[in-house]
Amino acid sequence: MTKNKTSATPTLILTAAHVLTCDDQMTHYTPGAIVIADDVVVTAGAKDHILADYPDVEQMDLGQKVLMPGIVNAHTHVPMTLLRGLADDLRLDVWLMGYIMPVEREFVSPEMCYLGTKLACAELFRSGVTTFADMYYFEHEIAKATAEAGMRALCTESILKFPAPDAPSYDESLAYTREYIQEWKDHPLIVPGIAPHAPYTTTPEILKASRDIAVEYDVPFQIHLAETQREVADVQATYGDRVIQYMHKQGVFEAKTLAAHCVHVDDSEIALLAEHNVGVLHNPTSNLKLAAGVAPIQKMLNAGVNVGVATDGPASNNDLDMFEEMRLASLLAKGINYDPVALPAKETIRMATINGAKAIHMDHITGSLEAGKRADLIAVDLSPVHNAPSFRRDPNGIYSQLVYASKSTDVTDVMVNGKWTMQNKTLTTLDEAALLDEAAAFAGKVDSFLIERESSVRRKLVAIGGVEYQESFEVQAKAKIEDTAALIAKLDNKEQITILKQKHYRQYDTYFYFDAPETDFLRLREDEIIGEDGSTEDFRYRLTLIGPSDEQMHDGSLLISRSRYIAPSTHTLRFYREYFRPTSEHTVTKDRLRWRIVYHGVEFAVNIDNLTEPTLGHFLEIKSRTWSQRDARDKAKVMRDLLTLLGIEKDAVIARHYIDLSQDAT
Ligand SMILES: [Zn+2]
Repeated sequence: MTKNKTSATPTLILTAAHVLTCDDQMTHYTPGAIVIADDVVVTAGAKDHILADYPDVEQMDLGQKVLMPGIVNAHTHVPMTLLRGLADDLRLDVWLMGYIMPVEREFVSPEMCYLGTKLACAELFRSGVTTFADMYYFEHEIAKATAEAGMRALCTESILKFPAPDAPSYDESLAYTREYIQEWKDHPLIVPGIAPHAPYTTTPEILKASRDIAVEYDVPFQIHLAETQREVADVQATYGDRVIQYMHKQGVFEAKTLAAHCVHVDDSEIALLAEHNVGVLHNPTSNLKLAAGVAPIQKMLNAGVNVGVATDGPASNNDLDMFEEMRLASLLAKGINYDPVALPAKETIRMATINGAKAIHMDHITGSLEAGKRADLIAVDLSPVHNAPSFRRDPNGIYSQLVYASKSTDVTDVMVNGKWTMQNKTLTTLDEAALLDEAAAFAGKVDSFLIERESSVRRKLVAIGGVEYQESFEVQAKAKIEDTAALIAKLDNKEQITILKQKHYRQYDTYFYFDAPETDFLRLREDEIIGEDGSTEDFRYRLTLIGPSDEQMHDGSLLISRSRYIAPSTHTLRFYREYFRPTSEHTVTKDRLRWRIVYHGVEFAVNIDNLTEPTLGHFLEIKSRTWSQRDARDKAKVMRDLLTLLGIEKDAVIARHYIDLSQDAT
């Protein structure tokens, strides 16, 4: 019997060997039929009954195929099709901060987002997707390209604490998002929304402001949560809570929330997700490729969480193939639970359709073939050799065929909102050949940019931010000393020497060397600032890039001319090693007593250093930096007098750097 009829006038009946409705009962009609009135599903049912009930409506037979709801790709970043394969086999931080974000800063534009979205829509139609949930920049362009392609989507605008490609600060992002939501709110294909990127790229203020906008306009709120163990540890260290608890305390779940990943969540967090109807977007390929882990999907489903399946962005997948994603989701759940009955194929199809729609808060529009839903559907051919033969004994066999054997290339026809976007594997709304040409031209530009950047350590340093050019001339003198106490006593000469500042550091220096003519080395320095009682009071991390130097002795001191760039070091040593890929490394550790003094009107840094690794003993080092070579020469004269005052003879001065002395010793 047919059920749930709507009153609209039917315009088309589709018939096929199988109709899967993905309603609450997962009703399967074989053979089956669907009645459509323009853009809406009137009813689905057994073929004989439908044809008897609607004798005068135009019919279209899809033969031995499966007709089912269009697939929901519950989390992606569609313009990133244009960054597919840009940088692979890297850790998440190196991949994101070292490559994706610098390229995005340079290349993400309204035009790039528009082109990348159209390219993505072509690929998504070919894998049977009729709805996707996006998170990116210039979401207005993404929504426009999606609507032109005839695709349905939840398009959520990214909010970051750093400058984004489409906004110099998050205030502008929030203002842009308000306008964007107002413009698209009542569109038949687009649901707008807001997307603070992740806990580690936002602040509590950004989360609350974004939630307020989502609640005010009643639109979804999308975010990446608990993707890596490091994120969990950082949130715990900063806010004292696990990630989901932290979100809950910020009041985020008052909005219609959807959370990508949720790989590292415990039972109490899963209970919170279920209680607040937070949709979880499972990205198995992306989580494996970036080695984030495997989300506990079976536990979430058992707790009643709405879980959708998703590809994530094509830069971390590297495709938008939902058939691969469904199969992997099923297999992974079985593997990590040592349980072959975990996540059966029927449940996976539910996750890729109606549960995905629920997870992204769009199940009132799409996700199943039921009366009143939009006509979003696909036809899948089960006749290819990789899917033959078919058995009829087990009613769930049809789901097994789709999840374990079907390929995205078996999708033949796609309808969104009652309009065909692909028929017999031909896209009807997009010019694929033209899109491929434009994508190739874009890739050429990114390639040239990265090839140039990779050829220079300095450009690579600039790409990760905060770099300052420093004084290029330096005068320095160094001498081996035995009696440090006597030297310190000589510094205490109030008539001639004014002490501005005194500090005590422990310095851990790692030198990176490269086969690059314009670079001498990159030094990563970790300073432990030691208090009067000998305890560590603070830390400081810096990167210094030194170009090849021109050095000469002048008045018994070393005059150095070289390029010198300094930047704050905000990542781990491991990050910099993987990002810069030095050809060799060397480390030097020392204990440094430093005085900033003024002598005869010239400011000098005076260091008494104890080199502990390698063990080289105590040295006096005096330095001054300037922008002018002539000034450096003048300072060298004053420095000569200072050295004499401190009892250092001209021929005791060593014209070497610590790194050279230390390399001689090892
Ligand atoms: Zn993502």
